[in-house]
Amino acid sequence: MQRASFGRFSKSSSIGFCSLRAFHYYPAHNSFINHDICKKNKTLNSNYDIVIIGGGAAGFFTAINIVENNPSLKVAILERGKTTLEKVRISGGGRCNVTHACFVPNDIVKFYPRGEKELRGPFHQFCSGDTIEWFEKHGVTLKIEEDGRMFPESDSSETIIDCFTKATQDLGIDILISQSVQSIYKTETDFKVQTKTDTFLAEKVVITTGSNPKMWEMLESLGHSIVSAVPSLFTFNIKDARLKDLMGLSTFASVKVKKSKLEASGPLLITHWGMSGPGILRLSAWGARELFDKNYHFAILVNWLNEATFEEAIDLLKDIKLENAKKVISKKSPIEMPNRLWERLVLASGISAETTWADCNKTELNALANQLTAGEFQVNGKSTFKEEFVTAGGIDLKEVNFKTMESKVIPNIYFAGEILNIDAITGGFNFQNAWTGGFIVAQSIA
Ligand SMILES: Cc1cc2nc3c(=O)[nH]c(=O)nc-3n(C[C@H](O)[C@H](O)[C@H](O)COP(=O)(O)OP(=O)(O)OC[C@H]3O[C@@H](n4cnc5c(N)ncnc54)[C@H](O)[C@@H]3O)c2cc1C
Repeated sequence: MQRASFGRFSKSSSIGFCSLRAFHYYPAHNSFINHDICKKNKTLNSNYDIVIIGGGAAGFFTAINIVENNPSLKVAILERGKTTLEKVRISGGGRCNVTHACFVPNDIVKFYPRGEKELRGPFHQFCSGDTIEWFEKHGVTLKIEEDGRMFPESDSSETIIDCFTKATQDLGIDILISQSVQSIYKTETDFKVQTKTDTFLAEKVVITTGSNPKMWEMLESLGHSIVSAVPSLFTFNIKDARLKDLMGLSTFASVKVKKSKLEASGPLLITHWGMSGPGILRLSAWGARELFDKNYHFAILVNWLNEATFEEAIDLLKDIKLENAKKVISKKSPIEMPNRLWERLVLASGISAETTWADCNKTELNALANQLTAGEFQVNGKSTFKEEFVTAGGIDLKEVNFKTMESKVIPNIYFAGEILNIDAITGGFNFQNAWTGGFIVAQSIA
């Protein structure tokens, strides 16, 4: 068994070879059925009060809070990789967007396309304000950026990793790496958690394996329902003459998916491959399942005037025409829009590059109003956003008690983080879900 190289001597004790009566859980019978197990070659080598499966954000936060609440508990984190907290390390472009400066539970839940209803209660127990306080208490000051995202003052995710590492060392939590959990069984008194090389006994098990398909399969075989996983938080691939060579250009717009109720507004960024920015990411999150069903091939209507209607755009263009009769339309944007984008929309309306406002006829004006309020673009595929993505899907929320985060299907098993069918848009909300879940697990078991 490999331990992460932390100073403290492990509390775990070796049980050695043994024969025990184990119980495989058969959900169909809603019961545990006895099987004699005699493992001559496997070593039952570690006995813990609580085993946490998954050494990511949720796993560490849960473990630290458990032992802080009750220092007498023996806790281990089992991590399948050679290192822990890998997603924290790369998060927020290496800066770790820890949470968001949205402090009211009923407001913050609106950022979660999946989990909005279920997280309302948990956020009343532990919300973003509590996260700031928790990190402050553990020596990490968070700062707020203009858009509400919160980062460690150091602007480095290593600060969060160091904080968690130090806390687990100080509290005597065992971090066991290269321990990929293969199965979980219920014995008469404990759970038996089997990795490729070792076996662990624990009274309670917390599962924080993120979006790991194998763990979902395992839990499905134990009776849980899993909402199938689809990507969330992605950008749109669009090849269109109106966007060519405009990468880096950003403007406010509202975007609608054609033949759908999906709609979002916010800054829209033109990229090498299509469109990105907060508005697009919001659409991708709320439409994660619907856009998956469309195989990421669909049309969008972009309103570059945000909320303005076609009629309002016509009125606006008529006023501009009156005031700028002699000016060439394509030359300069008369509205809050980058000139180069304005020029493309003018040309796409069938208005020549030399036409003056005075020469612009009714058909051309209508076409321009249409481009401005409902410019149609064809999306063909998706790309990841700065390598950041989350997965929509996971443990069906109906099967979790959100007062304790305990499984309603398998008593004494708890969940926190992305393993649940919860995800949010970018901005620090996904980590907040991990902190809140971890905190509640700790409150309820320690
Ligand atoms: C590039 C990127 C950047 C991101 N940036 C941000 C950000 O700045 N802010 C934000 O809020 N969110 C961000 N996110 C989302 C955020 O990282 C996740 O929502 C969060 O890490 C989920 O935490 P978790 O502990 O539930 O899962 P994870 O962090 O995925 O941890 C799960 C752990 O379990 C381990 N594991 C899996 N299966 C097993 C097994 N069978 N046995 C043992 N161990 C196992 C995994 O190896 C992993 O270490 C980002 C995501 C990505 C991909």
